[in-house]
Amino acid sequence: MSERIELTKSDLAQQEKCMEDVRRMLLERYPNRQPLAFTHSYGCQQNVSDGEKIRGMLAEMGYGFTNQESEADCIIFNTCAVRENAEFRIYGNVGNLKRYKKQNPSLIIGLCGCMMQQEHVAKKIRESYPYVDLIFGTHAAHLLPSMMKKRLEGQKHVEEITPQDGVIVEDMPIRRDGTVKAWLPIMYGCDNFCTYCVVPYVRGRERSRRPERILDEVRQLASQGYKEIMLLGQNVNSYGKGLEEPVDFTQLLRQIDEVEGDFRVRFMTSHPKDCTREMIDTIAQSKKLCHHIHLPVQSGSDRILRLMNRHYDTEKYLGLIEYAKEKIPDLTLSSDIIVGFPGETYEDFCATLDLVRKVEYDFLFTFIYSKRVGTKAAQMDDPVPASEKSKWFRELLSVQSEISQKRCEKLIGSVQQVLVDGPAREGTGRVGGKSGGNITVEFPGDASLTGQMVHVRITEAHNWGVIGERQE
Ligand code: SAH
Ligand code: SF4
Repeated sequence: MSERIELTKSDLAQQEKCMEDVRRMLLERYPNRQPLAFTHSYGCQQNVSDGEKIRGMLAEMGYGFTNQESEADCIIFNTCAVRENAEFRIYGNVGNLKRYKKQNPSLIIGLCGCMMQQEHVAKKIRESYPYVDLIFGTHAAHLLPSMMKKRLEGQKHVEEITPQDGVIVEDMPIRRDGTVKAWLPIMYGCDNFCTYCVVPYVRGRERSRRPERILDEVRQLASQGYKEIMLLGQNVNSYGKGLEEPVDFTQLLRQIDEVEGDFRVRFMTSHPKDCTREMIDTIAQSKKLCHHIHLPVQSGSDRILRLMNRHYDTEKYLGLIEYAKEKIPDLTLSSDIIVGFPGETYEDFCATLDLVRKVEYDFLFTFIYSKRVGTKAAQMDDPVPASEKSKWFRELLSVQSEISQKRCEKLIGSVQQVLVDGPAREGTGRVGGKSGGNITVEFPGDASLTGQMVHVRITEAHNWGVIGERQE
């Protein structure tokens, strides 16, 4: 574990000064209107949460926001590197920006996040997309104000990609996307080096925020009326390592559970190797923690789990699941699964199907293995053709679809507490939201219910979720 480095308000004084300078420069550049920014975060919740801080800084610098790239004066893409198809999509979207730059030469285009933290990607952007003004990695998001200033002062291309392991930056301005659900990172980075995964290379070493910082933020969100808080980390179960205060994830959960207010709490992601029975007991005993555990198994074959460097086997995993189901009878379970890891055989894949049938997950996030530059798995033999992997993938989806339907049927007759997200598909006359177990629930109602927590009696089950009626 590397030494923790925390930047707070006083360390950010220089950036605050740059924000003021940029605000002044933008006023000169746009004397008659507010300049507009378009931002988009690809990928995981951590990225979306980082994106909220980027928007916070842009707002402080004087930008308003638009959801039309064509009318933006500044466009920032916060990129994702976890799978190849995300990268392809981003390259395509960056290619499309060229015409906006032609129409509006003073448009500022910035790319940041995980893709930029990889040297070969930054090189490709520099060479093939020269109209990109700013390139900054995951460890440099807080430097956006000084980068913007340099660009506005005339520097054509500004880059900040520090190879260092990253810092914890507190006290950054934030502009949250929602008023009901909030993301709250409790730790950054990952030390696990699963052999397929690029995250440890692009997000640096694991580092935890101090518990009092997290609790302050929880209290603040509660007082602002947020109804759901999602605690974020690549492996929340290893929270607390390297902190001066002796606090682990379970203790943190207990402290959060004690905070006054009418809100519920989720977290992701739990790594099975560090998931403890105490954590499961804590959920069972808590008032605010949702009865849902996302516990990515990745594969049901012990041979593949070893090759993936996951540090658990199916016996340990199934033991945890059994314990959790016993302690929390209304528990919802979900998982991530990778199909077609290098060297995986159909037999290995069938072991995954077996595990999925045994656990009976409520829902799954499924991925076909994607080769990532610099990872160990990228060096492994990968003889199974893509068409075969797709066949396995479809088989997994169909097995899970039946299980999801069956799990949803079990909810018929129950009353679920639903946080309403807004109108469901057009023409249905229904609104939709999530239950505490994170199951999609729809019921007849209008948009005015958005953001409210309501009770819904379940009457109908599907493989995507359930339908019900509101209980007054
Ligand atoms: N830290 C979390 C999630 C990380 S990324 C965890 O360990 O669970 C989210 C998911 O993307 C992973 O769980 C994995 O299923 C998938 N993933 C990561 N790298 C991948 C790759 N190279 N190819 C396919 N899927 C991948
Ligand atoms: Fe990637 Fe594994 Fe870390 Fe998750 S735990 S981010 S899958 S290396």
